[in-house]
Amino acid sequence: MTVTDQSPADFLKRYYGYDRFRPMQEAIIRSVLGGRDTVVLMPTGGGKSVCFQIPALMLPGLTVVVSPLIALMKDQVGALHMNGIPAAFYNSTQTAREQRDIEADCVRGKLKLLYVSPEKLLSESFFAFLDRISVSLFAIDEAHCISSWGHDFRPEYTQLGILKQRYPNIPTIALTATADKLTRQDIAQRLGMNDPAIFTASFNRANLSLQVLPGQNRIGQIVRLLQRKPDTSGIIYCLSRKSCESIAGKLQEKGFSAAFYHAGMPSDERSRTQEAFLRDDVRIICATIAFGMGIDKSNVRWVIHYNMPKNIEGFYQEIGRAGRDGAAAQTVLFYSFADVVTYKDMLTENNPPNLGLQLAKLERMQQYADAHTCRRQILLSYFSEDLPEPCGNCDVCRDPRVTFDGTVLAQKALSAIVRSGERVPMNLLIDILRGSRSQAVMQGGYDQIKTYGAGRDLRFEEWRSYLHQLINIGVIEIAYDQHYALHRGILADQVLFGGRKIELVRPDDAPKPVVEKAKAK
Ligand code: ADP
Ligand code: ZN
Repeated sequence: MTVTDQSPADFLKRYYGYDRFRPMQEAIIRSVLGGRDTVVLMPTGGGKSVCFQIPALMLPGLTVVVSPLIALMKDQVGALHMNGIPAAFYNSTQTAREQRDIEADCVRGKLKLLYVSPEKLLSESFFAFLDRISVSLFAIDEAHCISSWGHDFRPEYTQLGILKQRYPNIPTIALTATADKLTRQDIAQRLGMNDPAIFTASFNRANLSLQVLPGQNRIGQIVRLLQRKPDTSGIIYCLSRKSCESIAGKLQEKGFSAAFYHAGMPSDERSRTQEAFLRDDVRIICATIAFGMGIDKSNVRWVIHYNMPKNIEGFYQEIGRAGRDGAAAQTVLFYSFADVVTYKDMLTENNPPNLGLQLAKLERMQQYADAHTCRRQILLSYFSEDLPEPCGNCDVCRDPRVTFDGTVLAQKALSAIVRSGERVPMNLLIDILRGSRSQAVMQGGYDQIKTYGAGRDLRFEEWRSYLHQLINIGVIEIAYDQHYALHRGILADQVLFGGRKIELVRPDDAPKPVVEKAKAK
């Protein structure tokens, strides 16, 4: 089927200058060359592009690449041109004239790869065009966008199943960096793939250190962190456009080379900022998640999340932009419970059709942030990968938590929850446990219940920490639809009646903000 006697490795050397394949790349290429539908799950920076670009070079006809973002297409085509590979993109930003020229090049067989958006691909006129040329392969990049289980669902992607119906004999390769189990199953099925070969590379990026810090005095902590790594490039992911701008401003005031990037900026300004970052003219980018898709900068030394992301897939993709060169890189997540509440409010207000799923994903993210076991094991288990030993390169491994038997505390909290009728939110519950005479306590008559004051030996902050921990392990639940009242969680009965032991971590043993720690030394 291929037009040459040369091997994939010859193409890798000739067009990309690399001497050997990374794990799985060659097997994937051979699967595609053999005409088999193929699904590729590989982390960001793993080297997915050559998996369809080398087959594109080796197969006789055109490879049509579906890509969700125009900026991404441009970058990829630019990179291909630099390597001497004939490629083009085809999208709505072009004039009719430009599009005609590209079509003519395809008909004459002058191009090996054509990048299109899913909307464009699925139009009748484009099908008519495809019918006139010889297509060897369809490549679906960012294939998780097809699944409503994924974190970046795009309705245009769901129609891509039509490709298999119209062109049953043209093989398809689907690639993604972010797929949990449900999404994985969904991709092959929705594309109508026929007995696909599925390649899952390890998602372990051992060179990325993982760290979670309390979301207090974040700017101070960031400054402290950055002072330890002068003149390095990094990304600070922020929740809102406004915070991107204000954080960049604060860092500039402190003398750092910082800029901001978000989707609300004019596109020329966005590309200028991106260029400056790629050229190391600007070292720090404060960005929303709009930044980074398709950016191939190998020496990003750190990624900081100013706010907790909404789910683990997004988080993993974002930290994956650090350390693509394989050298050590640092990732820091600032975690505050307030972020969780903000997301929950936003989600509940928007009320999307998959609300329950999104809330569940948010909860997994929160569990990661709250974890007292190796964080890499948690991440990899999310991607159904088993890391047998703790990693040694996360804050928990470096600084193991001391736990104590918190069963009695858990029982006191649960008992107060039950006796107050599962109606009170966290702060009020703490007041009840601590025997406060606040208005809310007195008005509700909660000073009459048996557990009133049963936890007065602990500070408010201590109770808050323990309640969060109990929520994360499933002893207590927050009823988001009932004004955040605390309810019994799935483990509650076992704790109250089944002799189940609960391990807790003292708030003082939890990680401290960087600044305080440095002062204490
Ligand atoms: P992904 O799309 O999976 O995020 P890319 O395809 O952009 O990753 O590849 C990431 C980087 O790794 C690129 O700079 C690419 O040139 C490089 N790369 C890919 N394959 C190899 C290889 N076999 N040897 C060395 N570098 C490679
Ligand atoms: Zn670890």
